[in-house]
Amino acid sequence: MASACSPLLSRASLSAGLHCCRIIDFSYCVPTGRLLEFERRGLDRERQARYGPVMPVAKTAIEWTEATWNPVTGCSKVSPGCAHCYAETLSRRFRWTDRPWTPANAAENVRLRPERLDQPLRWRRPRMIFVNSMSDLFHELVPASFIEDVFAVMAEAHWHTFQVLTKRAERLAELAPSLDWPENVWMGVSVENSRWAHRADFLRDVPAAVRFISAEPLLGPVDALALDGIDWVIAGGESGPHHRPVREAWVLDLRDRCVDAGVAFFFKQWGGRTSKVGGRELDGREWSEMPETRLAVV
Ligand code: SF4
Repeated sequence: MASACSPLLSRASLSAGLHCCRIIDFSYCVPTGRLLEFERRGLDRERQARYGPVMPVAKTAIEWTEATWNPVTGCSKVSPGCAHCYAETLSRRFRWTDRPWTPANAAENVRLRPERLDQPLRWRRPRMIFVNSMSDLFHELVPASFIEDVFAVMAEAHWHTFQVLTKRAERLAELAPSLDWPENVWMGVSVENSRWAHRADFLRDVPAAVRFISAEPLLGPVDALALDGIDWVIAGGESGPHHRPVREAWVLDLRDRCVDAGVAFFFKQWGGRTSKVGGRELDGREWSEMPETRLAVV
């Protein structure tokens, strides 16, 4: 398995039509070592003494982030946006999980990875880190105490910016009051069409420095999505052999409402059989806006 999951193969798998999602989890590939980015230089002695040796960074092909960190892996599907979950496809292809990501199999598929908790503390250079690209941190089988541990690490690793994305908005709202919300933690929910726009209502009450919406894969109009209290919207079409086409009108409507509301808008891709085939130009240009904030500095 280790030699099979090189970044080259992962990219080939993408272009061969694995379904759209946002993940390449190289932390699974740590045993291979050779194709990972190792940060070996420049770690100050104080931090090295405190956190131990520098760890390989889990690089990613996701356009709006720089690295991934997966203290939990495995999940179960909750809405139509999950239908072609890339994390499931990748996990089953490489036998990280054997059974479909249904609620009935969740107890087997959802795994805590406490040994990964300290990884960001060992990444020296400040990064934008997508948390749990291979799962959903607020999955009902992830204990609240473990979520608190993840938040404690994010607070301690203040030189990074962490992006947490969930479809479990109700559980997020339930746990948010008991979590610390340092400035370097951005919180988002997925909204694939108007049917799921209410997830944003739960997000609005979360005291995160940046609140964002992932409208990807965009499966229908999101005119029911209110943008007050939202700082950033990411949109994109689905990719893969069974991709569900996105309509330009849905994207333009969302883009226009973001512009009117002063919300940063990032258009990731049109999607199609492969993630790159449709490009990412919208209305004559690329949209890569990021929310106004600052990256923490070491
Ligand atoms: S919530 Fe995310 S990780 Fe979980 S099944 Fe759905 S798309 Fe996959």
